[in-house]
Amino acid sequence: MLPVLAIVGRPNVGKSTLFNRLSGTRKALVLDRPGVTRDRNYEIASWLERTYMLVDTGGFEPEPGDALFAAMRRQSEAAVAEADVVVLLVDRQSGLTPPDLQTADLIRMSGKPVIVAVNKCDTPMHDDDAAEFWELGFEELVPVSAEHGRGMYELMEAVLARFPDDVGEEPEVEGEIRVSVLGRPNIGKSTLVNRLLGEDRHVVHDAPGTTVDATDSMLEVDGTRFRLIDTAGVRRKARIDDRVEQLAVGAAIRTIDRSHVVMLVIDGAEGPTEQDAHLAALVEERGRAMLVLVNKWDRVREMEDRDVRVVEDEFSRKLPHVVNRPVLYISARTGKGCQSILQVARDVYGSFNQRVPTARLNEFLRDAVAAYSPPQLYHHPVRLNYMTQVRVRPPTFTIFCNSPMGVRGHYDKYLQNRLREQFGFFGSPVRIQYRRKRRPGEALDPERPLNALFRAPSEGADSGRAEVYVVGGDEDWGDEGADEADVLYEGGVDLDEE
Ligand code: GDP
Ligand code: GDP
Repeated sequence: MLPVLAIVGRPNVGKSTLFNRLSGTRKALVLDRPGVTRDRNYEIASWLERTYMLVDTGGFEPEPGDALFAAMRRQSEAAVAEADVVVLLVDRQSGLTPPDLQTADLIRMSGKPVIVAVNKCDTPMHDDDAAEFWELGFEELVPVSAEHGRGMYELMEAVLARFPDDVGEEPEVEGEIRVSVLGRPNIGKSTLVNRLLGEDRHVVHDAPGTTVDATDSMLEVDGTRFRLIDTAGVRRKARIDDRVEQLAVGAAIRTIDRSHVVMLVIDGAEGPTEQDAHLAALVEERGRAMLVLVNKWDRVREMEDRDVRVVEDEFSRKLPHVVNRPVLYISARTGKGCQSILQVARDVYGSFNQRVPTARLNEFLRDAVAAYSPPQLYHHPVRLNYMTQVRVRPPTFTIFCNSPMGVRGHYDKYLQNRLREQFGFFGSPVRIQYRRKRRPGEALDPERPLNALFRAPSEGADSGRAEVYVVGGDEDWGDEGADEADVLYEGGVDLDEE
Protein backbone atom coordinates (compact mmCIF):
# COMPACT_ATOMS: atom_id res chain seq x y z
CA MET A 1 0.00 0.00 0.00
CA LEU A 2 1.32 3.41 -0.88
CA PRO A 3 2.42 5.49 2.07
CA VAL A 4 1.21 9.06 1.93
CA LEU A 5 3.29 12.16 2.47
CA ALA A 6 1.44 15.44 2.97
CA ILE A 7 3.07 18.81 2.54
CA VAL A 8 1.38 21.42 4.68
CA GLY A 9 2.09 25.09 5.24
CA ARG A 10 0.76 28.55 4.75
CA PRO A 11 0.72 30.12 1.27
CA ASN A 12 3.98 31.18 -0.33
CA VAL A 13 6.36 29.12 1.75
CA GLY A 14 7.16 27.05 -1.33
CA LYS A 15 4.81 24.06 -1.14
CA SER A 16 4.25 23.85 -4.87
CA THR A 17 7.94 24.21 -5.52
CA LEU A 18 8.70 21.36 -3.13
CA PHE A 19 5.89 19.28 -4.56
CA ASN A 20 7.27 19.69 -8.05
CA ARG A 21 10.80 18.99 -6.94
CA LEU A 22 9.83 15.76 -5.20
CA SER A 23 7.59 14.56 -7.96
CA GLY A 24 10.23 15.42 -10.53
CA THR A 25 9.36 14.91 -14.12
CA ARG A 26 6.84 12.26 -13.33
CA LYS A 27 3.59 12.81 -15.07
CA ALA A 28 0.84 14.19 -12.96
CA LEU A 29 -2.05 11.96 -12.15
CA VAL A 30 -4.66 12.27 -14.80
CA LEU A 31 -7.00 14.14 -12.56
CA ASP A 32 -4.66 17.09 -12.70
CA ARG A 33 -6.38 18.46 -15.72
CA PRO A 34 -6.79 22.09 -16.56
CA GLY A 35 -10.18 23.45 -15.69
CA VAL A 36 -10.52 21.08 -12.81
CA THR A 37 -10.70 22.81 -9.49
CA ARG A 38 -9.10 20.82 -6.79
CA ASP A 39 -8.27 21.45 -3.25
CA ARG A 40 -5.34 19.16 -3.21
CA ASN A 41 -2.68 17.88 -5.56
CA TYR A 42 -1.83 14.24 -5.68
CA GLU A 43 1.07 12.57 -7.30
CA ILE A 44 2.73 9.22 -7.19
CA ALA A 45 6.39 9.90 -6.53
CA SER A 46 9.36 7.85 -5.49
CA TRP A 47 12.54 8.32 -3.57
CA LEU A 48 15.23 5.73 -3.99
CA GLU A 49 13.29 2.50 -4.15
CA ARG A 50 10.27 3.67 -2.26
CA THR A 51 7.12 4.73 -4.06
CA TYR A 52 4.72 6.92 -2.18
CA MET A 53 1.84 9.27 -2.67
CA LEU A 54 2.52 12.95 -2.38
CA VAL A 55 -0.30 15.24 -1.37
CA ASP A 56 -0.20 18.95 -1.09
CA THR A 57 -2.82 21.40 -0.09
CA GLY A 58 -3.12 22.85 -3.55
CA GLY A 59 -3.96 26.37 -4.43
CA PHE A 60 -6.70 28.06 -2.59
CA GLU A 61 -7.38 31.73 -2.82
CA PRO A 62 -5.64 33.64 -0.08
CA GLU A 63 -8.28 35.33 1.99
CA PRO A 64 -7.56 37.95 4.59
CA GLY A 65 -7.24 37.18 8.26
CA ASP A 66 -9.40 34.55 9.83
CA ALA A 67 -10.89 33.46 6.54
CA LEU A 68 -7.43 32.60 5.29
CA PHE A 69 -6.74 30.45 8.25
CA ALA A 70 -10.13 28.84 7.99
CA ALA A 71 -9.45 27.85 4.40
CA MET A 72 -5.98 26.64 5.28
CA ARG A 73 -7.25 24.72 8.19
CA ARG A 74 -9.81 22.93 6.09
CA GLN A 75 -7.28 21.98 3.47
CA SER A 76 -4.60 21.02 5.92
CA GLU A 77 -6.94 18.89 7.97
CA ALA A 78 -8.01 16.95 4.93
CA ALA A 79 -4.44 16.39 3.74
CA VAL A 80 -3.17 15.48 7.19
CA ALA A 81 -6.01 13.03 7.72
CA GLU A 82 -4.82 11.07 4.72
CA ALA A 83 -1.13 11.25 5.54
CA ASP A 84 1.30 8.81 7.10
CA VAL A 85 3.91 11.53 7.48
CA VAL A 86 3.47 15.30 7.40
CA VAL A 87 6.07 17.78 6.24
CA LEU A 88 5.34 21.17 7.73
CA LEU A 89 6.94 23.63 5.39
CA VAL A 90 7.97 27.03 6.71
CA ASP A 91 9.82 29.95 5.20
CA ARG A 92 13.23 31.04 6.48
CA GLN A 93 12.94 34.42 4.79
CA SER A 94 9.80 35.45 6.58
CA GLY A 95 10.77 33.75 9.83
CA LEU A 96 8.34 32.19 12.25
CA THR A 97 4.83 33.61 11.84
CA PRO A 98 1.61 33.11 13.82
CA PRO A 99 0.00 31.03 11.04
CA ASP A 100 2.98 28.64 11.24
CA LEU A 101 2.27 28.17 14.94
CA GLN A 102 -1.43 27.66 14.31
CA THR A 103 -0.74 25.14 11.59
CA ALA A 104 1.69 23.33 13.87
CA ASP A 105 -0.96 23.03 16.57
CA LEU A 106 -3.41 21.70 14.05
CA ILE A 107 -1.05 19.00 12.86
CA ARG A 108 0.03 18.13 16.36
CA MET A 109 -3.53 17.19 17.18
CA SER A 110 -3.48 14.56 14.47
CA GLY A 111 -0.69 12.71 16.22
CA LYS A 112 1.01 12.02 12.89
CA PRO A 113 4.81 12.12 12.57
CA VAL A 114 5.87 15.63 11.57
CA ILE A 115 9.06 16.89 10.01
CA VAL A 116 9.61 20.61 9.84
CA ALA A 117 11.27 21.66 6.61
CA VAL A 118 12.65 25.18 6.67
CA ASN A 119 12.52 26.29 3.07
CA LYS A 120 14.53 28.91 1.24
CA CYS A 121 17.77 27.93 2.96
CA ASP A 122 19.44 28.42 -0.37
CA THR A 123 23.04 28.35 0.92
CA PRO A 124 24.69 26.70 3.94
CA MET A 125 24.94 30.15 5.50
CA HIS A 126 21.17 30.24 5.76
CA ASP A 127 20.98 27.04 7.76
CA ASP A 128 21.62 28.77 11.08
CA ASP A 129 18.46 30.82 10.65
CA ALA A 130 16.45 27.63 10.61
CA ALA A 131 17.00 27.18 14.34
CA GLU A 132 14.23 29.57 15.31
CA PHE A 133 11.69 27.03 13.99
CA TRP A 134 12.54 24.61 16.77
CA GLU A 135 10.01 26.71 18.62
CA LEU A 136 7.30 24.93 16.68
CA GLY A 137 7.96 22.07 19.05
CA PHE A 138 8.68 19.18 16.70
CA GLU A 139 11.59 16.83 16.99
CA GLU A 140 12.82 16.90 13.46
CA LEU A 141 13.87 19.92 11.49
CA VAL A 142 15.62 20.03 8.14
CA PRO A 143 16.80 23.14 6.30
CA VAL A 144 15.96 22.83 2.62
CA SER A 145 15.79 24.80 -0.56
CA ALA A 146 12.98 23.50 -2.69
CA GLU A 147 14.05 25.75 -5.50
CA HIS A 148 17.66 24.61 -5.58
CA GLY A 149 17.18 21.07 -4.39
CA ARG A 150 19.18 21.50 -1.20
CA GLY A 151 18.43 19.22 1.71
CA MET A 152 16.18 16.89 -0.26
CA TYR A 153 18.22 13.87 0.69
CA GLU A 154 18.07 14.68 4.40
CA LEU A 155 14.39 15.50 4.20
CA MET A 156 13.47 12.31 2.41
CA GLU A 157 15.66 10.20 4.68
CA ALA A 158 13.67 11.55 7.60
CA VAL A 159 10.38 10.95 5.81
CA LEU A 160 11.22 7.40 4.77
CA ALA A 161 12.27 6.53 8.29
CA ARG A 162 8.81 7.53 9.48
CA PHE A 163 6.81 5.72 6.81
CA PRO A 164 5.10 2.58 8.00
CA ASP A 165 7.07 -0.56 7.21
CA ASP A 166 6.82 -1.57 3.64
CA VAL A 167 4.46 -4.48 3.86
CA GLY A 168 4.89 -4.90 0.15
CA GLU A 169 2.09 -5.95 -2.06
CA GLU A 170 -0.64 -7.90 -0.46
CA PRO A 171 -0.09 -11.52 -1.34
CA GLU A 172 -2.32 -12.69 -4.14
CA VAL A 173 -4.55 -15.48 -3.02
CA GLU A 174 -4.90 -18.04 -5.76
CA GLY A 175 -8.36 -18.01 -7.25
CA GLU A 176 -9.51 -14.97 -5.35
CA ILE A 177 -10.82 -11.98 -7.23
CA ARG A 178 -10.50 -8.66 -5.50
CA VAL A 179 -13.32 -6.29 -6.33
CA SER A 180 -14.20 -2.90 -4.98
CA VAL A 181 -17.15 -0.57 -5.21
CA LEU A 182 -16.12 2.96 -6.02
CA GLY A 183 -18.17 6.08 -6.50
CA ARG A 184 -19.16 9.44 -5.21
CA PRO A 185 -20.93 9.80 -1.89
CA ASN A 186 -24.64 8.95 -1.98
CA ILE A 187 -24.42 7.07 -5.22
CA GLY A 188 -25.67 3.83 -3.68
CA LYS A 189 -22.43 2.07 -2.79
CA SER A 190 -23.51 0.78 0.58
CA THR A 191 -26.90 -0.25 -0.75
CA LEU A 192 -25.08 -2.21 -3.43
CA VAL A 193 -22.59 -3.79 -1.08
CA ASN A 194 -25.40 -4.89 1.20
CA ARG A 195 -27.19 -6.36 -1.76
CA LEU A 196 -24.11 -8.22 -2.97
CA LEU A 197 -23.62 -9.56 0.52
CA GLY A 198 -27.34 -10.26 0.83
CA GLU A 199 -28.74 -13.41 2.28
CA ASP A 200 -28.86 -15.33 -0.99
CA ARG A 201 -25.09 -15.25 -1.21
CA HIS A 202 -22.72 -17.33 0.71
CA VAL A 203 -20.56 -15.01 2.76
CA VAL A 204 -17.29 -16.57 3.76
CA HIS A 205 -16.32 -15.67 7.27
CA ASP A 206 -13.08 -17.43 7.77
CA ALA A 207 -11.52 -18.65 4.62
CA PRO A 208 -8.73 -21.11 5.35
CA GLY A 209 -5.27 -19.88 4.49
CA THR A 210 -6.31 -16.28 4.09
CA THR A 211 -6.08 -13.46 6.50
CA VAL A 212 -9.31 -11.62 6.06
CA ASP A 213 -8.71 -7.96 6.51
CA ALA A 214 -11.32 -6.65 8.86
CA THR A 215 -12.36 -4.10 6.30
CA ASP A 216 -12.99 -6.65 3.55
CA SER A 217 -15.81 -9.08 3.00
CA MET A 218 -15.43 -12.45 1.39
CA LEU A 219 -18.09 -14.12 -0.65
CA GLU A 220 -18.38 -17.02 -2.98
CA VAL A 221 -20.54 -17.14 -6.06
CA ASP A 222 -20.74 -20.17 -8.37
CA GLY A 223 -17.46 -21.46 -7.04
CA THR A 224 -15.60 -18.19 -7.51
CA ARG A 225 -14.33 -16.47 -4.44
CA PHE A 226 -14.53 -12.70 -4.28
CA ARG A 227 -12.94 -10.36 -1.83
CA LEU A 228 -14.99 -7.19 -1.60
CA ILE A 229 -12.34 -4.61 -0.76
CA ASP A 230 -12.85 -2.04 1.92
CA THR A 231 -16.51 -2.72 2.43
CA ALA A 232 -16.24 -1.43 5.96
CA GLY A 233 -15.11 1.91 4.57
CA VAL A 234 -18.04 1.95 2.19
CA ARG A 235 -20.59 1.04 4.78
CA ARG A 236 -19.29 3.42 7.39
CA LYS A 237 -21.12 6.58 6.59
CA ALA A 238 -18.69 9.24 5.49
CA ARG A 239 -18.40 12.21 7.77
CA ILE A 240 -20.67 14.88 6.45
CA ASP A 241 -18.75 17.91 5.40
CA ASP A 242 -21.20 20.74 4.94
CA ARG A 243 -18.87 22.94 2.94
CA VAL A 244 -17.62 20.75 0.20
CA GLU A 245 -18.50 17.26 -0.80
CA GLN A 246 -14.96 16.02 -0.56
CA LEU A 247 -13.95 13.20 -2.76
CA ALA A 248 -11.28 11.39 -0.83
CA VAL A 249 -8.91 10.81 -3.71
CA GLY A 250 -6.20 9.37 -1.52
CA ALA A 251 -8.53 6.76 -0.12
CA ALA A 252 -9.85 6.04 -3.59
CA ILE A 253 -6.35 5.41 -4.92
CA ARG A 254 -5.59 2.99 -2.13
CA THR A 255 -8.80 1.10 -2.74
CA ILE A 256 -8.12 0.97 -6.47
CA ASP A 257 -4.60 -0.27 -5.88
CA ARG A 258 -5.87 -3.14 -3.80
CA SER A 259 -8.43 -4.19 -6.42
CA HIS A 260 -8.29 -6.37 -9.47
CA VAL A 261 -11.66 -5.15 -10.65
CA VAL A 262 -13.13 -1.79 -9.75
CA MET A 263 -16.88 -1.42 -9.98
CA LEU A 264 -17.48 2.24 -10.63
CA VAL A 265 -20.98 3.30 -9.63
CA ILE A 266 -22.56 6.31 -11.25
CA ASP A 267 -26.00 7.81 -10.91
CA GLY A 268 -28.15 7.03 -13.93
CA ALA A 269 -30.69 9.70 -13.12
CA GLU A 270 -28.04 12.37 -12.93
CA GLY A 271 -25.63 11.13 -15.57
CA PRO A 272 -21.84 11.09 -15.31
CA THR A 273 -20.22 14.00 -13.52
CA GLU A 274 -16.70 15.35 -13.49
CA GLN A 275 -15.92 13.46 -10.30
CA ASP A 276 -17.01 10.22 -11.96
CA ALA A 277 -14.64 11.03 -14.81
CA HIS A 278 -11.81 11.58 -12.31
CA LEU A 279 -12.44 8.25 -10.69
CA ALA A 280 -12.58 6.47 -14.06
CA ALA A 281 -9.34 8.18 -15.07
CA LEU A 282 -7.71 7.09 -11.82
CA VAL A 283 -8.68 3.48 -12.40
CA GLU A 284 -7.19 3.67 -15.88
CA GLU A 285 -4.08 5.36 -14.57
CA ARG A 286 -3.59 2.70 -11.93
CA GLY A 287 -4.08 -0.02 -14.53
CA ARG A 288 -7.04 -1.84 -13.06
CA ALA A 289 -9.92 -3.67 -14.67
CA MET A 290 -13.22 -1.88 -14.39
CA LEU A 291 -16.90 -2.26 -14.96
CA VAL A 292 -19.42 0.54 -14.72
CA LEU A 293 -22.68 0.26 -12.84
CA VAL A 294 -25.29 2.80 -13.78
CA ASN A 295 -27.36 2.84 -10.61
CA LYS A 296 -30.80 4.11 -9.64
CA TRP A 297 -32.14 2.84 -12.92
CA ASP A 298 -35.54 2.44 -11.26
CA ARG A 299 -35.72 6.21 -11.13
CA VAL A 300 -34.56 6.60 -14.70
CA ARG A 301 -37.38 4.37 -15.86
CA GLU A 302 -39.81 6.92 -14.51
CA MET A 303 -38.13 9.74 -16.36
CA GLU A 304 -39.42 10.71 -19.76
CA ASP A 305 -36.27 12.29 -21.08
CA ARG A 306 -33.75 9.64 -20.13
CA ASP A 307 -33.06 6.17 -21.40
CA VAL A 308 -30.12 3.96 -22.27
CA ARG A 309 -29.38 5.88 -25.41
CA VAL A 310 -29.18 9.20 -23.61
CA VAL A 311 -26.86 7.71 -21.01
CA GLU A 312 -24.65 6.07 -23.63
CA ASP A 313 -24.33 9.38 -25.38
CA GLU A 314 -23.36 11.09 -22.13
CA PHE A 315 -20.79 8.38 -21.55
CA SER A 316 -19.09 8.89 -24.85
CA ARG A 317 -18.87 12.61 -24.24
CA LYS A 318 -18.00 12.69 -20.57
CA LEU A 319 -16.35 9.40 -19.67
CA PRO A 320 -13.58 8.73 -22.17
CA HIS A 321 -12.01 6.13 -19.89
CA VAL A 322 -15.03 3.95 -20.03
CA VAL A 323 -14.65 2.68 -23.58
CA ASN A 324 -13.90 -1.01 -23.64
CA ARG A 325 -15.46 -1.43 -20.23
CA PRO A 326 -18.77 -3.19 -19.62
CA VAL A 327 -21.66 -1.00 -18.51
CA LEU A 328 -24.53 -2.47 -16.48
CA TYR A 329 -27.80 -0.75 -15.71
CA ILE A 330 -28.92 -1.61 -12.22
CA SER A 331 -30.97 -0.65 -9.26
CA ALA A 332 -29.18 -1.43 -6.05
CA ARG A 333 -32.37 -0.63 -4.17
CA THR A 334 -34.70 -3.01 -5.99
CA GLY A 335 -32.02 -5.49 -6.94
CA LYS A 336 -32.81 -5.31 -10.62
CA GLY A 337 -29.81 -6.09 -12.76
CA CYS A 338 -27.67 -6.92 -9.75
CA GLN A 339 -27.63 -10.68 -10.20
CA SER A 340 -25.10 -10.62 -13.00
CA ILE A 341 -22.69 -8.07 -11.54
CA LEU A 342 -20.27 -10.55 -10.05
CA GLN A 343 -20.36 -12.79 -13.12
CA VAL A 344 -19.36 -9.80 -15.22
CA ALA A 345 -16.68 -8.94 -12.66
CA ARG A 346 -15.35 -12.47 -13.04
CA ASP A 347 -15.27 -12.15 -16.84
CA VAL A 348 -13.52 -8.81 -16.62
CA TYR A 349 -11.00 -10.37 -14.27
CA GLY A 350 -10.48 -13.03 -16.93
CA SER A 351 -9.46 -10.29 -19.39
CA PHE A 352 -7.24 -8.69 -16.79
CA ASN A 353 -5.50 -11.99 -16.23
CA GLN A 354 -5.37 -13.14 -19.84
CA ARG A 355 -2.15 -14.44 -21.35
CA VAL A 356 -1.51 -14.74 -25.08
CA PRO A 357 1.12 -17.17 -26.30
CA THR A 358 4.16 -15.59 -27.91
CA ALA A 359 3.66 -17.38 -31.22
CA ARG A 360 0.20 -15.90 -31.61
CA LEU A 361 1.44 -12.48 -30.67
CA ASN A 362 4.07 -12.55 -33.35
CA GLU A 363 1.55 -13.65 -35.91
CA PHE A 364 -0.56 -10.76 -34.75
CA LEU A 365 2.34 -8.33 -35.01
CA ARG A 366 3.23 -9.47 -38.52
CA ASP A 367 -0.35 -9.06 -39.71
CA ALA A 368 -0.80 -5.71 -38.00
CA VAL A 369 2.36 -4.31 -39.58
CA ALA A 370 1.46 -5.75 -42.98
CA ALA A 371 -1.94 -4.08 -42.83
CA TYR A 372 -0.54 -0.75 -41.77
CA SER A 373 3.12 -0.13 -41.24
CA PRO A 374 4.52 2.34 -38.75
CA PRO A 375 5.40 5.77 -40.08
CA GLN A 376 9.06 6.47 -40.83
CA LEU A 377 11.22 8.23 -38.32
CA TYR A 378 13.60 10.75 -39.83
CA HIS A 379 13.25 8.95 -43.17
CA HIS A 380 14.26 5.67 -41.63
CA PRO A 381 11.90 2.74 -41.50
CA VAL A 382 10.75 1.74 -38.03
CA ARG A 383 10.91 -2.02 -37.61
CA LEU A 384 8.92 -3.97 -35.08
CA ASN A 385 10.77 -7.22 -34.60
CA TYR A 386 9.24 -9.26 -31.89
CA MET A 387 6.41 -9.21 -29.40
CA THR A 388 5.92 -10.91 -26.08
CA GLN A 389 3.62 -10.60 -23.11
CA VAL A 390 5.64 -9.66 -20.06
CA ARG A 391 2.89 -9.67 -17.49
CA VAL A 392 -0.77 -9.98 -16.65
CA ARG A 393 -2.95 -7.85 -14.37
CA PRO A 394 -3.04 -5.84 -16.54
CA PRO A 395 -1.89 -7.54 -19.73
CA THR A 396 1.35 -5.86 -20.67
CA PHE A 397 3.31 -6.48 -23.84
CA THR A 398 6.77 -5.65 -24.98
CA ILE A 399 7.56 -5.06 -28.60
CA PHE A 400 11.22 -5.02 -29.48
CA CYS A 401 11.99 -2.65 -32.28
CA ASN A 402 14.81 -0.65 -33.78
CA SER A 403 13.48 2.66 -32.53
CA PRO A 404 11.05 2.92 -29.62
CA MET A 405 10.70 6.59 -30.30
CA GLY A 406 9.23 5.79 -33.69
CA VAL A 407 6.21 4.04 -32.21
CA ARG A 408 4.32 6.74 -30.51
CA GLY A 409 0.82 8.09 -30.26
CA HIS A 410 -1.50 6.92 -32.96
CA TYR A 411 0.48 3.86 -33.99
CA ASP A 412 0.48 2.64 -30.43
CA LYS A 413 -3.27 3.25 -30.32
CA TYR A 414 -3.64 1.33 -33.58
CA LEU A 415 -1.81 -1.68 -32.18
CA GLN A 416 -3.82 -1.57 -28.98
CA ASN A 417 -7.09 -1.49 -30.85
CA ARG A 418 -6.08 -4.39 -33.06
CA LEU A 419 -4.93 -6.32 -30.05
CA ARG A 420 -8.34 -5.82 -28.48
CA GLU A 421 -10.10 -6.79 -31.70
CA GLN A 422 -8.20 -10.00 -31.86
CA PHE A 423 -7.89 -11.07 -28.25
CA GLY A 424 -10.62 -9.25 -26.34
CA PHE A 425 -9.39 -7.88 -23.04
CA PHE A 426 -12.84 -6.43 -22.47
CA GLY A 427 -12.90 -4.41 -19.27
CA SER A 428 -9.14 -4.46 -18.80
CA PRO A 429 -6.48 -1.95 -19.67
CA VAL A 430 -3.87 -3.14 -22.14
CA ARG A 431 -0.37 -1.78 -22.23
CA ILE A 432 2.34 -2.00 -24.80
CA GLN A 433 5.88 -0.95 -24.13
CA TYR A 434 8.45 -0.52 -26.85
CA ARG A 435 12.04 -1.41 -26.29
CA ARG A 436 15.08 -1.39 -28.41
CA LYS A 437 16.83 -4.66 -28.83
CA ARG A 438 19.98 -4.73 -26.82
CA ARG A 439 23.15 -4.92 -28.81
CA PRO A 440 25.37 -7.95 -28.36
CA GLY A 441 27.80 -7.44 -25.53
CA GLU A 442 25.90 -4.45 -24.26
CA ALA A 443 25.77 -5.11 -20.59
CA LEU A 444 24.20 -2.71 -18.22
CA ASP A 445 24.80 -2.74 -14.57
CA PRO A 446 21.44 -2.93 -12.81
CA GLU A 447 23.07 -1.83 -9.56
CA ARG A 448 24.03 1.43 -11.12
CA PRO A 449 22.71 4.16 -8.87
CA LEU A 450 22.40 6.68 -11.63
CA ASN A 451 19.22 6.93 -13.53
CA ALA A 452 20.88 7.87 -16.72
CA LEU A 453 24.39 7.44 -17.93
CA PHE A 454 25.89 8.96 -20.95
CA ARG A 455 28.33 7.38 -23.28
CA ALA A 456 29.99 8.27 -26.50
CA PRO A 457 28.12 7.53 -29.71
CA SER A 458 28.64 3.95 -30.70
CA GLU A 459 30.04 2.83 -33.97
CA GLY A 460 27.43 2.72 -36.63
CA ALA A 461 25.09 5.12 -34.94
CA ASP A 462 24.63 7.85 -37.43
CA SER A 463 23.91 10.63 -35.05
CA GLY A 464 26.71 12.57 -33.52
CA ARG A 465 24.96 12.72 -30.22
CA ALA A 466 25.57 10.92 -27.03
CA GLU A 467 23.00 8.28 -26.31
CA VAL A 468 21.16 8.32 -23.08
CA TYR A 469 20.62 5.04 -21.36
CA VAL A 470 17.92 4.95 -18.81
CA VAL A 471 18.56 2.02 -16.59
CA GLY A 472 16.03 0.15 -14.60
CA GLY A 473 12.32 -0.15 -14.27
CA ASP A 474 9.84 2.32 -15.44
CA GLU A 475 7.05 2.51 -12.95
CA ASP A 476 4.25 2.10 -15.39
CA TRP A 477 5.38 -1.31 -16.34
CA GLY A 478 6.11 -2.89 -13.04
CA ASP A 479 9.21 -4.81 -12.28
CA GLU A 480 9.30 -7.28 -15.08
CA GLY A 481 11.93 -6.33 -17.55
CA ALA A 482 13.67 -4.09 -15.06
CA ASP A 483 16.91 -5.72 -16.04
CA GLU A 484 16.28 -4.62 -19.58
CA ALA A 485 17.58 -1.26 -20.52
CA ASP A 486 15.12 1.28 -21.74
CA VAL A 487 16.91 3.18 -24.35
CA LEU A 488 15.85 6.65 -25.18
CA TYR A 489 17.23 8.76 -27.90
CA GLU A 490 17.59 12.36 -27.23
CA GLY A 491 16.63 13.92 -30.50
CA GLY A 492 19.15 11.72 -32.26
CA VAL A 493 18.59 8.75 -34.48
CA ASP A 494 19.71 5.27 -33.77
CA LEU A 495 18.64 2.79 -36.32
CA ASP A 496 21.32 0.21 -36.07
CA GLU A 497 20.60 -3.15 -37.55
CA GLU A 498 21.95 -6.29 -36.17
P1 GDP B 1 3.20 27.81 -2.08
O1 GDP B 1 2.21 28.92 -2.10
O2 GDP B 1 3.51 27.38 -0.68
O3 GDP B 1 2.86 26.67 -2.98
O4 GDP B 1 4.58 28.43 -2.60
P2 GDP B 1 5.28 28.40 -4.04
O5 GDP B 1 5.89 27.08 -4.28
O6 GDP B 1 4.34 28.94 -5.03
O7 GDP B 1 6.48 29.40 -3.77
C1 GDP B 1 6.29 30.71 -3.33
C2 GDP B 1 7.46 31.55 -3.72
O8 GDP B 1 8.64 31.13 -3.05
C3 GDP B 1 7.79 31.47 -5.21
O9 GDP B 1 8.11 32.75 -5.66
C4 GDP B 1 8.99 30.56 -5.25
O10 GDP B 1 9.82 30.84 -6.35
C5 GDP B 1 9.69 30.88 -3.95
N1 GDP B 1 10.48 29.76 -3.47
C6 GDP B 1 10.10 28.47 -3.36
N2 GDP B 1 11.12 27.71 -2.90
C7 GDP B 1 12.16 28.54 -2.71
C8 GDP B 1 13.51 28.34 -2.26
O11 GDP B 1 13.94 27.22 -1.95
N3 GDP B 1 14.29 29.43 -2.17
C9 GDP B 1 13.85 30.68 -2.52
N4 GDP B 1 14.69 31.68 -2.42
N5 GDP B 1 12.60 30.88 -2.97
C10 GDP B 1 11.76 29.84 -3.07
P1 GDP C 1 -23.34 5.62 -0.67
O1 GDP C 1 -23.10 6.91 0.03
O2 GDP C 1 -22.71 5.61 -2.03
O3 GDP C 1 -22.97 4.40 0.10
O4 GDP C 1 -24.92 5.57 -0.99
P2 GDP C 1 -26.08 4.79 -0.22
O5 GDP C 1 -26.04 3.34 -0.53
O6 GDP C 1 -26.13 5.20 1.19
O7 GDP C 1 -27.35 5.37 -1.00
C1 GDP C 1 -27.64 6.75 -0.99
C2 GDP C 1 -29.12 6.93 -1.23
O8 GDP C 1 -29.48 6.47 -2.52
C3 GDP C 1 -29.96 6.13 -0.24
O9 GDP C 1 -31.08 6.91 0.11
C4 GDP C 1 -30.38 4.92 -1.06
O10 GDP C 1 -31.59 4.37 -0.61
C5 GDP C 1 -30.51 5.51 -2.43
N1 GDP C 1 -30.32 4.49 -3.46
C6 GDP C 1 -29.31 3.61 -3.56
N2 GDP C 1 -29.48 2.82 -4.65
C7 GDP C 1 -30.62 3.23 -5.24
C8 GDP C 1 -31.33 2.79 -6.39
O11 GDP C 1 -30.96 1.87 -7.11
N3 GDP C 1 -32.48 3.47 -6.70
C9 GDP C 1 -32.93 4.49 -5.95
N4 GDP C 1 -34.04 5.09 -6.32
N5 GDP C 1 -32.28 4.92 -4.85
C10 GDP C 1 -31.16 4.30 -4.49
